[in-house]
Amino acid sequence: MKLFSEHLSKHTTFKVGGPADVLLIPETLEELFKEIEYCRANNTSFRVLGNGSNILVSDDGVRGYVIKLNKCCNHITLTNQNQIRVGAGVSLQSFIKFSIKNNLYGNEFLSSVPGTIGGAIFMNAGTWVDKNLYVSDFLTHVKYFDGSEIKTLTKDECSFSYRSSIFHKHEDWIILEACFNLPFQPSEVGEEKRKQRLEWSILYQDIKYPNAGSIFCQGNGRVFNLLKGIKWKNVGWSEKTGNWINIYGTSSSRDIYFLIKVGKLLHYLFLKKVKTEIRIWN
Ligand SMILES: Cc1cc2nc3c(=O)[nH]c(=O)nc-3n(C[C@H](O)[C@H](O)[C@H](O)COP(=O)(O)OP(=O)(O)OC[C@H]3O[C@@H](n4cnc5c(N)ncnc54)[C@H](O)[C@@H]3O)c2cc1C
Repeated sequence: MKLFSEHLSKHTTFKVGGPADVLLIPETLEELFKEIEYCRANNTSFRVLGNGSNILVSDDGVRGYVIKLNKCCNHITLTNQNQIRVGAGVSLQSFIKFSIKNNLYGNEFLSSVPGTIGGAIFMNAGTWVDKNLYVSDFLTHVKYFDGSEIKTLTKDECSFSYRSSIFHKHEDWIILEACFNLPFQPSEVGEEKRKQRLEWSILYQDIKYPNAGSIFCQGNGRVFNLLKGIKWKNVGWSEKTGNWINIYGTSSSRDIYFLIKVGKLLHYLFLKKVKTEIRIWN
């Protein structure tokens, strides 16, 4: 399926962002590869969108193709007693539930994360640094398309670090599939951990407003406390969750960007240079 001038506000958790020239949702890998070939031959840029839960899209939108893999990479299979092969377009929630059902450790700490496998691998999604848990902990390898062929990287070759991976350096590589070797865990234990994580999220995370989770990578706790409650138009630094920006009404990505700049400036005054964790699409 191809949607022309599709507003990305409909495909991001911030619910802002202008149109993509083309939003492509291929049904099969063959269709995906054919379209990439077309893009390369015509010098048309392309990027992959997961669930849009870590992206701030410009109000002017983005040129070229935006590709969603929720149809062509939606498989999930148990390939061995403890090995799961999962498509990049599968939601983390489905992956976690599938692991739990099969008596495997389900990365339950990701139960509160509204992303896809592809986005989670790209970002090396996980807990805050002190808890030190990452989606890559039990990953064995990743299959990706480099524009001409399907290749495989082992976990070590993915250069994972805090909210980063080799894919940040190769934004034209398309993650297709991930393979995990998960330890045994009775399903009741997994289900209990999943529930606990969701309850924790309701208690401590400001989930009732559109947001994109943490804005900065490893910022300063004192600065986050100072930012809490600062508002600009219909956008504000969450009063409940440090490092989150919420949308309280009709808004634009320009307004969010302004508050991000305020956050950067405040960090700068505390002598800390911070990197944005969310991806900015112009
Ligand atoms: C309420 C809330 C809570 C959150 N909590 C957490 C948390 O606890 N821990 C955490 O780490 N994050 C958290 N996040 C941030 C976000 O959910 C994660 O970063 C998630 O992994 C992003 O996945 P996604 O599918 O939405 O990716 P997107 O936001 O769609 O994309 C993120 C990046 O990945 C790239 N990408 C996506 N799929 C592919 C692919 N198949 N191939 C190549 N590149 C790809 C995109 O191009 C983009 O650069 C939270 C967000 C929200 C809204």
